[in-house]
Amino acid sequence: MKAGQFGRAGGAGKELKGACVMFGEPMANHTSLGIGGRAEIFARPSDAEALMRLLEYASGMPVFLIGGGTNLLVPDGDIRALVISTQDMKGIKTDVPAGGTVISVAAGEPLKKVLAFCMQNGLSGLEPLAGIPGSIGGAVAGNAGANGLQIGAAVRSALVVDFSGGGTAKTISRENLGFRYRGSSAGGLITNVELALEKGESQEIKKLMIKNFDMKKKTQPLASRSAGCVFKNPEGKNSAGRLIEEAGLKGVRVGDIEVSRMHANFFINTGKGTAADFAGLMDKVRGEVLRRYGVALEPEIKMFLGEKCL
Ligand SMILES: Cc1cc2nc3c(=O)[nH]c(=O)nc-3n(C[C@H](O)[C@H](O)[C@H](O)COP(=O)(O)OP(=O)(O)OC[C@H]3O[C@@H](n4cnc5c(N)ncnc54)[C@H](O)[C@@H]3O)c2cc1C
Repeated sequence: MKAGQFGRAGGAGKELKGACVMFGEPMANHTSLGIGGRAEIFARPSDAEALMRLLEYASGMPVFLIGGGTNLLVPDGDIRALVISTQDMKGIKTDVPAGGTVISVAAGEPLKKVLAFCMQNGLSGLEPLAGIPGSIGGAVAGNAGANGLQIGAAVRSALVVDFSGGGTAKTISRENLGFRYRGSSAGGLITNVELALEKGESQEIKKLMIKNFDMKKKTQPLASRSAGCVFKNPEGKNSAGRLIEEAGLKGVRVGDIEVSRMHANFFINTGKGTAADFAGLMDKVRGEVLRRYGVALEPEIKMFLGEKCL
């Protein structure tokens, strides 16, 4: 399918065998920053089969993936691509009633809901991640982490649809998912994740989740529009946030994007900030940290660049 075959942008929806398809959908509506131009085609398949049909139909087009959009910087202009959202991939299954500790979660489920499920079912292991927004698929793709835990440690396997050749689905075990600091090498769209947890006490799990979430609220600007940490922590003891703060950059702005005064590694959209402003502020901060400390900060947030999401 060539771009435009669906008709021109305008936001009308269409059902394509298990996938809602929109044209000219503003990506700003799907990112926590509230930034992003219109996607030529925006589709929400409900499962792996619908996704594979969609890929076959749209073969030849650049493809971008989005989960909760909480770690993404999307460009301001038109996005001439098929953007696939996992937001309609829903469902949590478990073997807990049979005495097990494994849950199987569809990619679009919010991490928050997965944590609530764990709490209700006395499943321990993910408590350190309380307060991280976004979907389980995005968390696994980016190996999201907090308080010493990276989610990859709890993953047993993932069902991944590989885009090459119109899409093939395969189950990949944790050992082959290539988890690293804020990344993995899943190599396609994760449609389902199996997590291996431990038995625990619901009340204890709840207490720990609340404690971690309270700490996060005290140290991060959760009520503002951000995409989480902008830069990865460099190797060694220094955190990116500390380097940016020590460089005196808290409160520095480009347009409406500001270095958070609460946590210097969060950039806030204070109003009508654009992706260009955000990228400009990244350059400014990176340049200053490099000049002062000789440390080249690397982006943690992902960007739709050219035909790739990096
Ligand atoms: C206030 C705030 C606090 C945050 N705190 C933390 C934190 O403590 N720790 C942390 O690690 N992160 C944190 N983040 C960043 C972000 O929430 C996480 O990285 C989250 O796991 C991203 O999930 P998502 O569904 O929003 O992914 P998206 O932003 O939608 O996508 C991120 C990347 O993953 C890819 N992707 C998404 N879904 C899939 C899928 N199903 N299969 C394959 N690839 C996919 C996208 O293409 C993109 O490259 C925070 C963000 C905010 C706004």
